[in-house]
Amino acid sequence: MSSAVKPLMSLDDALAIMLSHVPNTSSVETVATWDADGRVLAQDVVSELAVPALDNSSMDGYAVRSSDVPHVGARLRVTQRIPAGSHGQPLHAGDAARIFTGAPIPPGADAVVMQEHVSVDPTQPDLITVDQAVAAGQWIRRAGEDVSLGAVILSKGCRLQPAELGLAASIGRAELAVVRKPRVALLSTGDELVMPGSVAPADMKPGTIYNSNRFFLRALLQRAGCEVTDLGIVPDQRQATIDVLTQASADHDLIVSSGGVSVGEEDHVKPAVQSLGELHVWQIAMKPGKPLAFGWINAERTASTHAPCFFMGLPGNPVSSYVTYLCVVRPVLAALQGAVERDLFPYQLPVHFDWPRPDKRREFLRVRRNAQGGLDLFPNQSSGVLTSAVWGDGLIDVAPGQVLCRGDGVAYWPFAQWLS
Ligand code: AMP
Ligand code: MG
Repeated sequence: MSSAVKPLMSLDDALAIMLSHVPNTSSVETVATWDADGRVLAQDVVSELAVPALDNSSMDGYAVRSSDVPHVGARLRVTQRIPAGSHGQPLHAGDAARIFTGAPIPPGADAVVMQEHVSVDPTQPDLITVDQAVAAGQWIRRAGEDVSLGAVILSKGCRLQPAELGLAASIGRAELAVVRKPRVALLSTGDELVMPGSVAPADMKPGTIYNSNRFFLRALLQRAGCEVTDLGIVPDQRQATIDVLTQASADHDLIVSSGGVSVGEEDHVKPAVQSLGELHVWQIAMKPGKPLAFGWINAERTASTHAPCFFMGLPGNPVSSYVTYLCVVRPVLAALQGAVERDLFPYQLPVHFDWPRPDKRREFLRVRRNAQGGLDLFPNQSSGVLTSAVWGDGLIDVAPGQVLCRGDGVAYWPFAQWLS
């Protein structure tokens, strides 16, 4: 007897469903700009200042009136000295001001001559000869050329990176309104799992493995700006799973688990979440990473939170877990924080290999850029081979059934773009 095989859900459809449930309202807190690296801005940052505030010199040299230097060899008298941090006096015709990088241009001056283009006679140190033609405006940084007064320098939803922190500081912002960090509980399922350090490699019992997912998932979540509670390894038992989920759902925005989302007898996560809330388990048409669960738990919530605690169950195979995190958890977390993911697009690069036997599922292959501007393939693409994610510096996105021949262009996602 043949039974109709239900088509697997696409990654895009699964993600769209998840994002439709995730609220984009998060509470706001104020943090010192000093401590705001990686946080998501909750409000636009508007400048109350022009940067630079005044026209200033971009060179060490002499501020002059360009009309005083009609030809090379013009001589000027140095009447003032303006180091950075001070300001000068009006510059009269025929005069020059010794000036240093960052110092304000004195009124009347309209150009700076680099000190390298000036000759000074040691017997007449107040007199300079200008050795190069001077154009009005040269070596002057204009007031407001970086930031104009009233400009939105950083927009709500922006994830603050080092340059953003510097820009906020440049307009005098000591504090920033940011979105509260999502509180994420992380748990690993699997009675075969052992923590590194608890048993030496030589003493591992047959059938046990070290818990690797817990390490990279925690690091990924932290990099995504989450406050992570690590709940360790949950035994493959129904009641223990229910207990840990109940407890975690009370004060977390999201629970992320790895393993146990297939349909085996030892997979207790699914019935446990179902008994506490709602769960969708999908077979996603992607490779690696077929089983994926998403749902929420409606258990007692602390007064400050309104949304339910969301649940995301990732596959146990390490590469599947890693890739589904990048493709699914990362955008859900961005949505939870109201983060606007900027410049997120793949590069088109040529493959330097053949891929003659594509899968029916959309496939994310671990590849690495080479010095010739192409992509090399890690030879073992098994979902258990975590070495592929370390050797590789990104993923290529191969459509179902897409054959690749050396030289074909593909969509390449550098890991770095997803990990910052
Ligand atoms: P599961 O999804 O629970 O059926 O697990 C699939 C495969 O991934 C099995 O070979 C597990 O032993 C392995 N696995 C599950 N969880 C982890 C983990 N935290 N670290 C490393 N491997 C894991
Ligand atoms: Mg398992």
